[in-house]
Amino acid sequence: MKIYINGEYYGRADARVSVFDHGLLYGDGVFEGIRIYNGKVFKLKEHIERLYHSAKAILLEIPISKGKLGKVVLNTVRINEKENGYIRLVVTRGDGLLGIDPTTCNKPTIIIIVDDIKLYAEEYYKNGIEIITASSRRIPSDCIDPRIKSMNYLNNIMAKLEAKQAGCLEAVMLNIEGFVAECTGDNIFIVKNNELSTPAPYHGALDGITMQTVIEIARFLDIKTHETTLTRYDLYNADECFMTGTGAEIIPVIKIDGRLIGNGKPGAITRRLIKRFQKLHVA
Ligand code: PMP
Repeated sequence: MKIYINGEYYGRADARVSVFDHGLLYGDGVFEGIRIYNGKVFKLKEHIERLYHSAKAILLEIPISKGKLGKVVLNTVRINEKENGYIRLVVTRGDGLLGIDPTTCNKPTIIIIVDDIKLYAEEYYKNGIEIITASSRRIPSDCIDPRIKSMNYLNNIMAKLEAKQAGCLEAVMLNIEGFVAECTGDNIFIVKNNELSTPAPYHGALDGITMQTVIEIARFLDIKTHETTLTRYDLYNADECFMTGTGAEIIPVIKIDGRLIGNGKPGAITRRLIKRFQKLHVA
């Protein structure tokens, strides 16, 4: 494994950052998770765009151009000889003094890891997954905009732990108004009367690239999609439900807080979307 850090490649054991890096000390940084399917990096342009938008929002200037960074990502994939896998692209504020002041950090740290990923066992894609509502809420949009994919995941991690303690693998998070925001590392969709709905980003959802891909597929299949307001009632009474994310892909949800969704099996529209999604990755 060859890991890129600021222009150099290192083996797994030697790939290190400073203990004074504000990414480590304060979670000050942004990142992307990107898939490689059949030798091609999926939606690279979209991920690079989102990374630069996240960085701009936190006043972090990435010291190389989007085009150059895209090439470095592709080169790192090539060097690692990965046909299928996952890229973690991280830009931290960099090495600085103790104290949160980011102006003490002179140079952002750019890290690219190319590895494998398997978030959920195959059976969940086939049979669906059970989730709970977490009591940990999504950070309000007027504190940190949810479209910033930052290195601050602690409230999502707390929600994930709640899921695990309840014997589930994932949790849905509400915003502070009690509306559905997203899952801890995925967006959430419901199907009701053959139409798709997902919470709008201002309710606390990341503007997911898989979510946008699903919306594109739905448009192609003539399925109406709404970016809207959802409550737990809407989830419980949905005909179908699924989560989307780069790591998770599209995963059917069949039970939420003990309520069966639809007939308790992955729904027809979910299965259609999964099929089309997989077709996008054929070499
Ligand atoms: N929400 C959160 C909180 C995430 O971390 C992610 C990415 N894992 C997503 C949604 C899904 O976004 P994407 O489809 O761009 O991976």
